[in-house]
Amino acid sequence: MAELKLYDITKIYDDAEGTETAVDKASVTVNDGEFLVLVGPSGCGKSTTLRMIAGLETATGGTIEIGDREVQHLAPSERDVAMVFQSYALYKRMTARQNMGYGLKHSTDMSAEERDRRVRESAELLGIEELLDDKPEAMSGGQKQRVALGRAIVRDPDVFLLDEPLSNLDAKLRSHMRTELQRIQSDLGVTTVYVTHDQTEAMTMADRIAIMNNGVVQQVDPPEVAYEHPNNEFVGAFLGSPAMNIFDAVAHEDTNGYDIGVEDTTLGRIPHEAVEDDIGGESVRFGVRPEDVHLDDLPDDATGGCRFPATVRVTEYQGNDNFVYLDVGDRSLTARVPPGIYPEPSDEVTARIAAEDVYLFDPETTASIKTRGVGGEGTDTQPITRG
Ligand code: ADP
Ligand code: MG
Repeated sequence: MAELKLYDITKIYDDAEGTETAVDKASVTVNDGEFLVLVGPSGCGKSTTLRMIAGLETATGGTIEIGDREVQHLAPSERDVAMVFQSYALYKRMTARQNMGYGLKHSTDMSAEERDRRVRESAELLGIEELLDDKPEAMSGGQKQRVALGRAIVRDPDVFLLDEPLSNLDAKLRSHMRTELQRIQSDLGVTTVYVTHDQTEAMTMADRIAIMNNGVVQQVDPPEVAYEHPNNEFVGAFLGSPAMNIFDAVAHEDTNGYDIGVEDTTLGRIPHEAVEDDIGGESVRFGVRPEDVHLDDLPDDATGGCRFPATVRVTEYQGNDNFVYLDVGDRSLTARVPPGIYPEPSDEVTARIAAEDVYLFDPETTASIKTRGVGGEGTDTQPITRG
């Protein structure tokens, strides 16, 4: 059991193709026993970060601490971490039992009995006792993945590192394995960094998520905090499906607040106390999540909000919810509505957005100006000061 601390870790690749900063001063503390998910688009530096923690890649700068040990100069075998790869990387000629025991045999002086006991216990935890004498070729993808996990678990590491371990599984098995992995991780209580490019996976599995873009960690927070209070436009747009609607807009000063205008339409109307700085007359980026665009007939809430006409382009039936693609002037706006609401193409509807659900971002710095909430007294959200 141990805390994992990354401080300013950096990786600069310098080869024939030029110099590339793959990871730029990443600082994250993963608490003892925590399940941290590192998420971001392909190529943003997730695997490189994980490989630096494991010692498979040398950091160009920064420090890595596991418990009270600085490990960035240690060999992988001395770090007490175990890594699971997307590709499973099992030895083809070995049985599951041999695959799982191999690391113990070659990197510890553990007795054969002790090794065998550990392998059996891990197999039990993973529900793969019956597979122990099988070779990988006889196994399904899901079974191979469990053996690969087993090989990491038997080592009883301080830190568990998983790089997109479920990507090769079909959707149903993936969702089952998500739950399984969470159970196993919480049973073992082992500090875990889990890498994925899939924001749904990140949101559903993580104690906290670290969102990365272009080698830079953008935010580290519990999923609901990052979702409702993104630090910047990238995080707001990356989390959530369908993605947040985002438009260039202007904040028009009004007596009670700001009318957030996108071309000729006011899409958002927010009270002054929702933002700390005076944004009257300024360009902003306006964001609203699809589930916050309402097409029902509820009255406006007391804190402002906005109604505007829209034309239905198409409605996508989803079963639990419907996605309605709307035209508002020249812009497309996606609404996620309850299953009872199913407007037809060309229908004219009234869309409604509550003040608290409006997000605003700075067009230059991309930092958040307003996240969920309306600020002021009696709300749980404080207005954001732009730095
Ligand atoms: P992710 O896992 O988030 O998809 P990676 O960490 O694999 O991203 O890669 C981050 C960046 O570093 C990418 O632009 C990738 O091309 C580059 N990169 C990764 N490995 C190497 C390498 N061995 N040599 C040069 N560039 C690399
Ligand atoms: Mg990767």
